Amino acid sequence: MDFSLTDEQRAIRSTIRSFVTKEVLPLEKELLHRQQRDNSGITHDELRELQLKARKFGFWGPSTPVEYGGMGLDCVDQSLLHMELGKTLVRFHLGGEADNILYDCDAEQRQKYLLPTIEGDISSCFAVTEPDAGSDLTALRTSARQDGDDWVIDGEKTFISHALDADLAIVIARTDPDANYRTAYTAFLVERSMGFSTAPIVTMGQMQPATLSLDGVRVPAANVLGEVGDGFRLAMRWIGRGRYIQPSRAVGAAERLLGMAVEYAHVRRTFGKPIKDHQAIQWMIADSTAELEAARYMTLLAAWSADHDDETRVATSAIAKLTVANWACDIADRVLQIHGGIGYTQELPIQLWVRDLRVLRIYEGSDEIQRRTLAGQVLSGRYKPGGHLG
Ligand SMILES: Cc1cc2nc3c(=O)[nH]c(=O)nc-3n(C[C@H](O)[C@H](O)[C@H](O)COP(=O)(O)OP(=O)(O)OC[C@H]3O[C@@H](n4cnc5c(N)ncnc54)[C@H](O)[C@@H]3O)c2cc1C
Repeated sequence: MDFSLTDEQRAIRSTIRSFVTKEVLPLEKELLHRQQRDNSGITHDELRELQLKARKFGFWGPSTPVEYGGMGLDCVDQSLLHMELGKTLVRFHLGGEADNILYDCDAEQRQKYLLPTIEGDISSCFAVTEPDAGSDLTALRTSARQDGDDWVIDGEKTFISHALDADLAIVIARTDPDANYRTAYTAFLVERSMGFSTAPIVTMGQMQPATLSLDGVRVPAANVLGEVGDGFRLAMRWIGRGRYIQPSRAVGAAERLLGMAVEYAHVRRTFGKPIKDHQAIQWMIADSTAELEAARYMTLLAAWSADHDDETRVATSAIAKLTVANWACDIADRVLQIHGGIGYTQELPIQLWVRDLRVLRIYEGSDEIQRRTLAGQVLSGRYKPGGHLG
């Protein structure tokens, strides 16, 4: 078994690492200041400027196929890249990307939505969660009824990331009130100008999701994404992608945090010696290192399974999402503890990492939903521990 990276993977990693170090990390001080002042983060224009700079280094559309001008990276390479991006507090992501399910568009939608989204000329959000349907996506109430050549959508979505400035929402709505959830939903491409409205939800972290209200929004039949009745499958595919991307970013965050703890443990002295010499501190460093490394390889295995469309994919991504989310939160908490009182202040970024990382245990499938999925896979015999080894 070869755990070493290829030359190409090393090149990707070192180039994005130096980009993050030179271009993104210097913004952190200002970001912390904004967070204290009014909870604001990186602006749309700043993000765009950074994305265009990264494009000059060849970093544009990591998941986007080469024929669409992207890098066409496989999941393992994307995971390595997101581990580097996760090392900064700045919510930076590379440009040139589109929601994975937007590729299910037809030729007309491709020109109107997919290509401008990849180019960054329009921004999109994905809306499935509702006030009464989060984990339980079989309970969606947002409905779409056919009226002539149009569909009329009524309902309320909530916690939708990027909805506040999205030009386009991919909305999952119930199109057949009687069918089983697997065939009852359809995905619609809804432009803001068609009439949806959004309102911000204040969270404890940097993410600023929003409610998205659709009150009799009229959408042409040409804006159905994929097939009528295929919305549940598309929604699951959208959510599935996050199950190795989010853990990858969390691994990066945990690595950066652990580095801060190691540095501080060398310089902070108590009882006549650096705190690194106290066994209690060493154990926290050891536990965090063990979890970080296990998290890294679990995440890469989930990405590898996704690349191979391996039958263990569902289970490995549930394990990655569940364990990495928890370990990253535990590591952030220990790093705060190692810093003592200063760790609890807003002078240091640790408190912001603690708050930002916490959402990982909730969104894109909470801890409990990952456990439910994993138990289902094991109890049904679909997943046997170590099964990917043959
Ligand atoms: C910052 C943020 C961004 C988000 N972005 C998006 C987005 O872009 N698009 C989108 O559509 N949604 C988004 N979400 C919604 C997110 O996916 C849901 O919040 C999540 O799926 C949980 O749903 P819920 O909040 O309704 O909790 P609920 O489903 O009501 O769950 C409440 C509690 O019960 C537990 N639970 C539920 N069912 C079970 C079960 N069967 N067994 C055991 N325990 C169970 C849950 O784990 C949780 O602890 C976002 C949420 C947040 C916080």
